Amino acid sequence: MKDYLVKAYAYNGTVRIYAANTTQLVNEARKIHDLWPTSAAAFGRLLTVSVIMGAMYKGNQELTIRVEGDGPLDGMVAVTNANGQVKGYVGNPHVFLQYNSGKLNVGQAVGNGFIHVTKDLKVRDMFTSSSKIQTGEIGDDFAYYFTVSEQIPSAVGVGVLVNPNNLISAGGGFILQAMPGCTEEVISYIEDIIANMRPISDLINDGYTPEKIIQLLAGEDYEMLETQDLSYYCDCSKDKFQRGLIALGADELRQLVSEEETIKTSCHFCNSTYSFSKKEITALIEKIDSKRTPKL
Ligand code: ZN
Repeated sequence: MKDYLVKAYAYNGTVRIYAANTTQLVNEARKIHDLWPTSAAAFGRLLTVSVIMGAMYKGNQELTIRVEGDGPLDGMVAVTNANGQVKGYVGNPHVFLQYNSGKLNVGQAVGNGFIHVTKDLKVRDMFTSSSKIQTGEIGDDFAYYFTVSEQIPSAVGVGVLVNPNNLISAGGGFILQAMPGCTEEVISYIEDIIANMRPISDLINDGYTPEKIIQLLAGEDYEMLETQDLSYYCDCSKDKFQRGLIALGADELRQLVSEEETIKTSCHFCNSTYSFSKKEITALIEKIDSKRTPKL
C-alpha cells in the first residue's frame, strides 16, 4: 500500500483529524540512514508527525522541525512541505534501546530538551516556536507543542513497528485538533476513544487504512475532505552544492584544492554525494574572482 494522508472534519465540524500511513517513507529513511531499531522508531515517528503538519500548510510553504534532546539519539531534524514530501536526519542512527518488555525505548533515546518548529511561509521572515520535550515519545511531545505553543488543544498518535530483521512493518499516525466550538463533552468522548485504542502501529500492521483510523476516532459523524500522497523526498542537486561551495569564498576553495584532488560533498538528508574536480573548483574560484569589485 502506498503512503498517503487523509484529512477530515468530525463532530459537527468542531474537530479536525489527519491520519496517515507512512510505512514506505519510514522504510526509505531506514535504508538511507542505516537506522537501527530505536533510531528508526524515533525518527519514523518524527517524520510521520512532520509530514502531517506539512499538510496543514499550503503552496510552497516549508516547515523545519528539530527535536533537540540530550539522549543518545543526539537530536533529529525533519523538513517538510505542503506537498506531502518529507526528509530529515538523525544525530545517531545506531541507537538500539529497549524496555525490559522488549518494547523500543524511544523516550530514553530522545532524552530531555526542546522541540523547535520553524515556519517558512514564504511571505515574510521565518519564525520559530518551541516547547519542552515531555516524555520523548514524540506523540506526547507534539500534543503538548500544539496545545501550549499554538494554543490548539490536540492529540497526537504516532507509531512505527520495526520487525526482527530491522525492516519497518508499519508506520503511521494521526493528529486530532479541537477547533473553536468544540465542547468539553466531545473532548472527553474523544479522550476515552484514544485511551482505549490499540497502538497505531499495530492497527496499520493489521491493515487499517487512514480512512479507517479516522472512523475509529470520529465515530459516526465525519466528513472526509482530501487525501494526499506522501513520500521521502530530497531536492538536492550538484548545483545546490556548487552554490554552497561558492559561498565558502575563493580563499577557502584555494585551500581545499591545494589539499585534495577532488572535493566530495554529501547530502545530510539523502546521502547523495557530489564530486567536484580540481578543474571545476578552479573554475568556481575564477568565477568568484571575476565578480569581485577591484580594490582602488
Ligand atoms: Zn539530498
